[in-house]
Amino acid sequence: MKPIILIGPPGSGKGTQATLLAASFAIPHISTGDLLRASKLDDATQEIVDHGGLVPDAMIMDMVAARLKQDDCKDGYILDGFPRTVDQAQWFYAHYPSPIVFLLDVSDEVILQRILHRAQIEGRKDDTIETVRERLIEYQRFTAPVVDYYRKEGTFYTIDGRMQLDDITDWIINLIESKVDTRYEASA
Ligand code: AMP
Repeated sequence: MKPIILIGPPGSGKGTQATLLAASFAIPHISTGDLLRASKLDDATQEIVDHGGLVPDAMIMDMVAARLKQDDCKDGYILDGFPRTVDQAQWFYAHYPSPIVFLLDVSDEVILQRILHRAQIEGRKDDTIETVRERLIEYQRFTAPVVDYYRKEGTFYTIDGRMQLDDITDWIINLIESKVDTRYEASA
């Protein structure tokens, strides 16, 4: 199956959706944030991650390329948190099959509430108000253009991230299985 890409601001629920979809389609969930958190990073890169910046594209591309070479990716995979820059998207376009892309659209207020809640549960170092603000700025600056890129380039759907978790999963599954042929726009 085609690669599936979930894009959304921090706290949009893309990690949760990716986990559910991966289980449903029996394909791997590849989160670049998780890969970074599982890696021994040099001090400078760790500093970037801890403060909500974006690590250099080349490092991310190497990490993703190595992961996608693994055998479990041959029947498809879900990318969560990648691509986050237009350069990453163009690199992916040049080397991998064209993806189905979903944008999980949620407001900044909802994001802040969700992330502060997640901070209490998961204890992530980059889930403080200051860092979340920084990550939202990075999102607007670097990742919003990725949304425009996919809007023009590929199979792209916007999902209202305020919908119930299970409804979002069902929507995405239906779209992937082409049971639904109309695009759902959050603004509709
Ligand atoms: P996430 O778990 O997706 O929220 O990612 C956590 C942090 O990892 C981000 O705030 C970035 O510092 C870094 N990161 C994850 N994915 C990428 C990416 N595709 N490009 C650059 N930095 C990334």
